[in-house]
Amino acid sequence: MTQPFATVVDIARDIASGNTSAVEVLEHHLARINEREHDIHAFNLVTTEQARATAQQVDADIKAGKKLGPLAGVPIALKDNMCTRGIETTCSSKILEGWKPPYDATVVTRLQQAGAVMVGKTNLDEFAMGSSTENSAFGPTKNPLDTTRVPGGSSGGSAAAVAAGFAAASLGSDTGGSIRQPASLCGLVGVKPTYGLVSRQGIVAFASSLDQVGPFTHTVADAALMMEVIGGHDPLDSTSLPQPMPSLTSVLGQGVTGLRIGRLADMPDGCEPEVLARMDAAYAALQAAGATIVDISLPSLSYCLTAYYLVAPAEASSNLARYDGVRYGMRVETADLHSMYGATRAAGFGAEVKRRIMLGTYALSAGYFDAYYGKALKVRRLIANDFAAAYEKCDVILTPTSPTVAFPLGDKTSDPLTMYLCDIFTIPTNLAGHAAMSVPFGTGAHNMPVGVQVLAPALGEPTMFRVAAELERAS
Ligand code: GLN
Repeated sequence: MTQPFATVVDIARDIASGNTSAVEVLEHHLARINEREHDIHAFNLVTTEQARATAQQVDADIKAGKKLGPLAGVPIALKDNMCTRGIETTCSSKILEGWKPPYDATVVTRLQQAGAVMVGKTNLDEFAMGSSTENSAFGPTKNPLDTTRVPGGSSGGSAAAVAAGFAAASLGSDTGGSIRQPASLCGLVGVKPTYGLVSRQGIVAFASSLDQVGPFTHTVADAALMMEVIGGHDPLDSTSLPQPMPSLTSVLGQGVTGLRIGRLADMPDGCEPEVLARMDAAYAALQAAGATIVDISLPSLSYCLTAYYLVAPAEASSNLARYDGVRYGMRVETADLHSMYGATRAAGFGAEVKRRIMLGTYALSAGYFDAYYGKALKVRRLIANDFAAAYEKCDVILTPTSPTVAFPLGDKTSDPLTMYLCDIFTIPTNLAGHAAMSVPFGTGAHNMPVGVQVLAPALGEPTMFRVAAELERAS
């Protein structure tokens, strides 16, 4: 895909060098929002006034000769499941409508410290449950490349905001693919970091053992820079890794000579032929650049979807118990406390969220726990073992990010199971706690973008980014 919008790296450099100002860059992005947002619906909230104030501050700091952060003046959008102090955070759910968090998520603080200008909170599938952003209580987001199609999900608003040029980059969260799949469907780079590499503090929890935050960008270099800003240890997140954030911007030019690239020997059914053709082209490009292709297998891959759709709902049923009409957002007033809980949750949650809460509660209930949740945990171990065996033979694995290109709005809404199948290639990474990213690699059916997924073991980000940079050069 040609890259029509200014990158994070270019914007930061041009502002720092005085070629342009933060206010000018922001107004440019706000003008695009004005033009197309009514059609795309990437945002739940555009924070125009706060953004203008931040941009003016950046320009004042430059005038005063202050030291600038690496993202000074760069317009960035945030998925609306990230806490922003005093600014509504809804998770695209009626149950949280009107709730203003009393603190910022750590990633939000880090972006602010780097000088980023937050332009708004983006739409998502309610509580990040979905693969198309059609489960939002506030209406779907459309794919800016073809507005009859979905942008993917659940971070569809964050993907659309970058693809439409409303922000130079955005943050999403990825529990089973919610950054990588929309990145693939919108022609962007999207990163799911190693579990624990980016802080989850202040991210509304969906499935705590799977959730990770990561960036959407136009380029691999932008994604590397964003990762360096948001990543690294956070004492406020007990699952945060103690290691310092590895440098990613410095490895992008290292090439792939000598790297071993794993190719899935037994590809699951259901991939579009054009997607498979792009995979062949990706292997060929890496081979031409000096890498070796080795066949690997992940025998437990076929069980991962089922395991995920037990583990994630089980954790969600517990995490979402706190929305009871007492502490957050909406409340339906009734005669007594108990019926207030029920009435609030019945009115506040949408169909998919209720489906997950019921699935999860069932999987955790006495008598079924071992048969469902316990078995799912065993699959989690099996896929980790499969990956461990595969990574003895290769450094990274390449798969499609999504079996298909962006599908038409409404195509899968009547059958949740076909929607769940979108996640076949992305879910294993979350179950294992590993790293993976999607890199745009040409187009498939209907001239829509195809994403190639680069998977790496835990803390394999530097190698993963090297391969991603090579794919980007080749495309
Ligand atoms: N599509 C998956 C789900 O609905 C993944 C969502 C996510 O990563 N947040 O659970």
